[in-house]
Amino acid sequence: MNTCKKIIIAVDGFSSSGKSTMARRLAAVVGYRYIDSGAMYRAVTLYALDHGMIDDEGTPDTTAIIAALPQIHIDFSVQPGGSQHTMLNGTDVEKEIRRLRVSNAVSPVAAIPEVRHALVAMQKRMGESRGIVMDGRDIGTVVFPDAELKIFVNASAETRARRRFKELVEGGSQVSYEDVLANVVHRDHIDTTRAESPLRRADDAIALDNSAMNLEEQDAWLLDKFNKAVAR
Ligand code: C5P
Repeated sequence: MNTCKKIIIAVDGFSSSGKSTMARRLAAVVGYRYIDSGAMYRAVTLYALDHGMIDDEGTPDTTAIIAALPQIHIDFSVQPGGSQHTMLNGTDVEKEIRRLRVSNAVSPVAAIPEVRHALVAMQKRMGESRGIVMDGRDIGTVVFPDAELKIFVNASAETRARRRFKELVEGGSQVSYEDVLANVVHRDHIDTTRAESPLRRADDAIALDNSAMNLEEQDAWLLDKFNKAVAR
């Protein structure tokens, strides 16, 4: 493995496709920084929910959210053991942002162009020193269109909902599989049809359907693509 050349790796895909897990695990193996861009959209959404900027139907008050953007500071803190927690204005919100309450509200917030512009600018700055694995929806198309390695992950909606359901239940949430599946399908729809940088595969991204892959197979597949990209 060529450890001198630091590249940028963009991992995009549908909700709960396992992209965060594969991105995080590759970053740990190759010694790169991992950034979960979805956590940033979730943090903005949590702020908006807690400040009454999203109504009971899930409709965001776009004007209020845009006006609040300068007051929303997002950071990641590295925990003992290496995992990262999302910080919102200095408070650890890692657990809070994963709840269904936030999942149900995040996609309309992420569709607001001003929110995207602010977060994309932060994400580009995080990539300046390279040696980064970032996962999201628009990393290969908008944030790092010149990334040396781009992966686009998909799996069936049912497979993805089963994974997210297991994660939530293991984390202590009381949710039904049907609600999780409905959330996955709903977010897919909003993410792929929004006007501003919709979720789509970059022309030069390598597609991966990991429905039938276990973690080890997925890790090996990605490490092979990484080694080839670094050697190029
Ligand atoms: O990746 P995760 O499911 O945590 O992302 C939450 C939501 O944030 C997505 O459903 C999508 O609406 C939005 N998102 C986005 N662009 C990104 C990352 C996430 O629009 N780069």
